[in-house]
Amino acid sequence: MSSFEFFSDAGRFLRGNLHTHTTRSDGALPVEAVIAAYRDAGYDFLAITDHFLARYEWPVTDTRGFRDQRFTTLIGAELHAPRTALSPLWHIVAVGLPLDFAPATEDEDGPALARRAREAGAFIGIAHPAWYSLSLEDAETIDAAHAVEIYNHGCQLMHDKGDGAYLLDGLSDKGRRLLTYACDDAHFKAPDFAGGWVEVKAAHNEPDAILDALKAGRFYSSQGPRIHDIAVTDSVVEVACLPAMGVVVVGEGYLMSYRFGTGLTRATLPLEPLAVSPWLRVVVIGGDGRRAWSNPIWKDQL
Ligand SMILES: [Zn+2]
Ligand SMILES: [Zn+2]
Repeated sequence: MSSFEFFSDAGRFLRGNLHTHTTRSDGALPVEAVIAAYRDAGYDFLAITDHFLARYEWPVTDTRGFRDQRFTTLIGAELHAPRTALSPLWHIVAVGLPLDFAPATEDEDGPALARRAREAGAFIGIAHPAWYSLSLEDAETIDAAHAVEIYNHGCQLMHDKGDGAYLLDGLSDKGRRLLTYACDDAHFKAPDFAGGWVEVKAAHNEPDAILDALKAGRFYSSQGPRIHDIAVTDSVVEVACLPAMGVVVVGEGYLMSYRFGTGLTRATLPLEPLAVSPWLRVVVIGGDGRRAWSNPIWKDQL
């Protein structure tokens, strides 16, 4: 199945955040208050991803006790190891880790640590690339990555560097097939909560089903707008969404197709402008400027 056909699968979308901090590292709120915030805001699941560093005693925060019929949790951490061209440490999100994931060793660099986390079962995300000026060359070395963060709300709010599209699209242009997700990276020291999330189509609101859906790309990302369906033919992309002021389809380099209007709920965009692009992805723009993003769609998988 192509990664976007999940829209018509049975079941409903589950809303979740994949990148969150608590007082187990440098967040302002304890685990129970963080869980309560997402639960009360209507989220279906949460991954707490405290900084996996010696100074915080290598936290893989155990949230299993907060799972119930309506809300569940994935076990995760934000992994750090030397180094990128411009930063002494990598920032790598790992969701679906075992609770006994061993501390990083002195000779383990970012790519090696990410590989070990993926081998342990985790979904691997390249976190907030713009925030630390992560280059395409650096990112290519994370061969274990499943995804790039296309939007990090905390990094946008406090640093004006929340965007990851440059890196996702650059890697796609190099032929690398990655997924993409939005998150808030909330630390609860500023209004950084609930500014970006994922909508996952999973059969059950259970950790394993969600993790499988993440790895298979059965999700989209949002700051608010909803995507109901995406269909791609030889000549057009059809998008059904909650009323939007624009639908944009981007592809290789600066190739794109767009439609703007008032209260769009359905848009048909010609693919001809993207004829030579091997991939495309859909962005829905709400009337308030907030966006929703599909995963990249590769034409040879249609
Ligand atoms: Zn980080
Ligand atoms: Zn973080």
